[in-house]
Amino acid sequence: MNKPAYFFKSFTFVASKLKIHFNMIRYSLAVLSLILMLTSAKAQDYKTFYEKSEFKKTPSYAETMDYCRLLASTSPKIHLSSLGKSPQGRDINMLIIDRDGLQTPEAIRAAGRVITLIQACIHPGESEGKDATLMLLRDMVTQNKHKNLLDKSSILFIPIFNVDGHERSGAYNRINQNGPEEMGWRTNALNLNLNRDYMKADTPEMQHWLAMFHAWLPDFFMDIHTTDGADYQYPITYAVETFGNLDSGLTRWLKNIYEPRMSQKMAEAGFPVFPYVQFRQWHDPQSGLRNGPSPAMISQGYAAAANRAAVLVETHMLKDYKTRVDGSYQMIVETLSIVNHQAETLKTLNQMADKSTVAPDFRKQDMVLSWEADMHDSTMVTFAGFDYEVRKSDLTGGNWYIYNNTKPVEFTLPLFDKVKPGKVIKLPAAYIIPVEWAEVIDRLKFHGINMKTINEETRLEIKSYRFYNPDFRCTPNEGRHMVNTQAEVITEQRTYAPGSVLVPTNQRNAKIIALLLEPMASGSLLEWGFFNAIFEQKEYAETYVMERVAREMLAADPKLAKAFEAEKLKNPDFAANQWNMLNWFYMQSPYHDRKFLKYPIGLIEKEEVYRRLF
Ligand SMILES: [Zn+2]
Repeated sequence: MNKPAYFFKSFTFVASKLKIHFNMIRYSLAVLSLILMLTSAKAQDYKTFYEKSEFKKTPSYAETMDYCRLLASTSPKIHLSSLGKSPQGRDINMLIIDRDGLQTPEAIRAAGRVITLIQACIHPGESEGKDATLMLLRDMVTQNKHKNLLDKSSILFIPIFNVDGHERSGAYNRINQNGPEEMGWRTNALNLNLNRDYMKADTPEMQHWLAMFHAWLPDFFMDIHTTDGADYQYPITYAVETFGNLDSGLTRWLKNIYEPRMSQKMAEAGFPVFPYVQFRQWHDPQSGLRNGPSPAMISQGYAAAANRAAVLVETHMLKDYKTRVDGSYQMIVETLSIVNHQAETLKTLNQMADKSTVAPDFRKQDMVLSWEADMHDSTMVTFAGFDYEVRKSDLTGGNWYIYNNTKPVEFTLPLFDKVKPGKVIKLPAAYIIPVEWAEVIDRLKFHGINMKTINEETRLEIKSYRFYNPDFRCTPNEGRHMVNTQAEVITEQRTYAPGSVLVPTNQRNAKIIALLLEPMASGSLLEWGFFNAIFEQKEYAETYVMERVAREMLAADPKLAKAFEAEKLKNPDFAANQWNMLNWFYMQSPYHDRKFLKYPIGLIEKEEVYRRLF
């Protein structure tokens, strides 16, 4: 018997003996291949729209929400919720991701975890945060990657905040930006920029967001954007509030823990980062760099006013879309990793920040209403830019900055990032808002501010402001006519009708209250134009009536003649205008409007007075 025949015989012999086993193996193989098929189909199904497009496209609202629903149906850790409807009727959805599938702030806090809010597409043309986080969550729940990121932190993820702007999609929405192929529009359907609306809350989107924020009070907040501005090497820049507008403990944590660790990890991962600076002269890096606090009307500034740390992530517009999404992915992973590692510290610091705002000492300190840059104090830093030349444009006569992104250059530049308080006040014990300024009362409610309604007519002495030299911007800003004005402090008796509200300042939102209600605060409701009607003079004297009355007033009060002459000397325009001169007399007559140019909101300085009302 030759060898092959022998082997064949032996094989069939063994095979027949082990037939049952072969059948089992065949069966197992079939099951295995079915599993493999299903797994590969599963892997295929979980590819995001962005990945399927070879990293060139970003999904529509409907496609994004389908994917969110897929994730939620795949894993009990993910739950889909809605903040509310947009002006065009779309749901502003949010994913709640928790290792035990918990879905409420109370349950998550009871489990001892911190909460991180990740927000994308407040500017829908800047969609990296959406595509990066969808992939990250998929990797977490289908591939068990980055599992530890849910150890001590639960995640809230808003894939598209500005849902209506997101659907105004097109290839020509961001001229400065390198992909994706089509993208959403910057503003909402009412042409308002949600990232200027955190304080005034004009948009339904922001009103829903504020309700969510104050219900959940995330321990850390990431808001993900794409830059405009100059060309440089960094794929990602970032902003954290370390200038004095955030609680001091949280500021130190950002400076000493978050910033250095995040920067180092990002550099190690191949995504070197730099603070989101501006150049002292537009487009010219060598003019020096500027950095400073963000106003509370924008995301990370609002978080600071609400005693919470945040990071603004800005991917660089000229890097390709994949680099920007990968960079965002990395930034989210590193941030979540630090938040998890620091969960206990962060929780304690947030509690301390809230306690310090409530404490009586907070009302003895200066409350800063605006900041001023200190342009005399700078530090030298290394900035990874690109070589550039400045050409005189033969088209416009202006400077044309031509960056050469094949020639990286390390510039040594002065960074001006010191600020000092501009306007400051001491907080009163409470503010009192007349019932008729209902719009103002309603806006305050969105910010989770505690207030008490007075049930009967109340007369009391208050401090307030009288305005002078108001200056109205003639073009609208965010649909509003803003006013800058000067003010003097006045004290007077006022009567407040039932339904008026008292807003005590011994609450965790004290900074937000002051920034909304102190008229001199940058971004106050007064500055946004909520009180424009008080600047209008509604009663007046006919000249022929006032010519007579003015004479009677002069005869009755000799001092008035002196003041009148002084006013004429001071202001030649006044002296040349009959109406102005007669109106000057009218304003000093008993007929003048006692509410004209006065702030309707009163400040109750003494705790006892406020307490007596309750
Ligand atoms: Zn943006």
